[in-house]
Amino acid sequence: MSRKRVLITGAAGFLGSHLCDRFIKEGFHVIGMDNLITGDLRNIEHLFKLEQFEFYHHDVSKFIHVPGELHYILHFASPASPIDYLKIPIQTLKVGSLGTHNCLGLAKAKGARILVASTSEIYGDPLVHPQNEEYWGNVNPVGPRGVYDEAKRFQEAMTMAYHTFHGVETRIVRIFNTYGPRMRLNDGRALPAFIGQALRGEDLTVFGDGSQTRSFCFVDDLIEGIYRLLMSDYHQPVNVGNPDEISLKEFAEEIIALTGTTQKIVHKPLPVDDPKQRQPDITRAKEILGWTPKVSRREGLKVTYEYFKSLPKDEWFKQPK
Ligand code: NAD
Repeated sequence: MSRKRVLITGAAGFLGSHLCDRFIKEGFHVIGMDNLITGDLRNIEHLFKLEQFEFYHHDVSKFIHVPGELHYILHFASPASPIDYLKIPIQTLKVGSLGTHNCLGLAKAKGARILVASTSEIYGDPLVHPQNEEYWGNVNPVGPRGVYDEAKRFQEAMTMAYHTFHGVETRIVRIFNTYGPRMRLNDGRALPAFIGQALRGEDLTVFGDGSQTRSFCFVDDLIEGIYRLLMSDYHQPVNVGNPDEISLKEFAEEIIALTGTTQKIVHKPLPVDDPKQRQPDITRAKEILGWTPKVSRREGLKVTYEYFKSLPKDEWFKQPK
């Protein structure tokens, strides 16, 4: 039987590695591509022994050559957490623009369907709440987060242009905060930061008064939404995330209860352009994909905490790359 072939960029990252697992499970031949700038081969090392899997160590902002047929492309390569994209702003802009252009060109050449990973960050600091796909966003292009937000906005525009002008089959997923095993403890995002602090016996740092809200989606739910979107015939952007919103202060309290730490919450000044509210409106995903998140924060956090706890102790203390 000849298997359908899928290229996954960002394969060694948090989401990319889970996508590789899912497509292997679905019987695809998976070609993973990554330059390991923020990723880790340990996330996919279990796949190297499989004939169904191959890996290219390559920067997708440079010309991409993949021999043979390709049926699907999932473009997930990009630094994703503020700590990363503030350190490597130019690479972030390049992978969202040149990297996306290369992937779209490859999709056109191969006649493949392509899904690109966009983000809730394209809504910026939103003036409507919750955010549905009709909202155009409130982004500061020259603020520190602009490099990521604008790269992703450009990515969406370029993807739509390839759809309209070249007839490429495109899909755009707007991903909201996602968590789960294989996240990096030191990636600077609230959830791993809180759990890391609890594991190390440090106080939990909440920025500002902690009234800013986030909604967290467990990775298995997200991957299901992405898979359904790829297989759908819908080319407009679709939000995928968990609408269960919580303030960061309450969230820190949940982590304290989950981990049993005796440490307390301390407050630090809010970073520039930190969004005050984030909550997906997932009406479109429900209607078009028949998708809703299934994993409660309680269940998802437990699995994620167990994963972080099982890491060698020196990982708990590792500084960001
Ligand atoms: P991650 O940092 O764990 O994974 C990104 C991967 O892309 C890494 O393995 C990195 O090495 C690779 N990469 C970066 N630049 C590259 C390049 N030029 N060439 C080849 N590989 C490159 O991040 P993640 O959380 O898995 O995010 C994956 C995608 O999902 C990103 O596009 C991100 O913008 C998007 N996203 C993630 C979230 C989330 O909550 N995790 C939310 C919204 C959007």
